[in-house]
Amino acid sequence: MTLQNIFLLIFAPFIGSFLGLLIMRLPSGRGVIFGRSQCDCCGTTLYARHLFPLLSWLLLRRRCRHCGVAIDWLALVPRRHSFAW
Ligand SMILES: [Zn+2]
Repeated sequence: MTLQNIFLLIFAPFIGSFLGLLIMRLPSGRGVIFGRSQCDCCGTTLYARHLFPLLSWLLLRRRCRHCGVAIDWLALVPRRHSFAW
């Protein structure tokens, strides 16, 4: 595994996460630069430790830590596809 592959393996989920954020926020008119990430259902602000793509999704068992609502699998599609780079 080359250094370039390791770099992509680490950063691809973050790029995919940002693309997912754009897909989910822009149609609803929400900003993407300012404002912290929050649960779409209850509005609870996410901690920094909950912002690691895929890892935090799995550790939280695919649910919001506060209200328990399942996190939409569509939020993961851009992250998953970002590995295809
Ligand atoms: Zn919630």
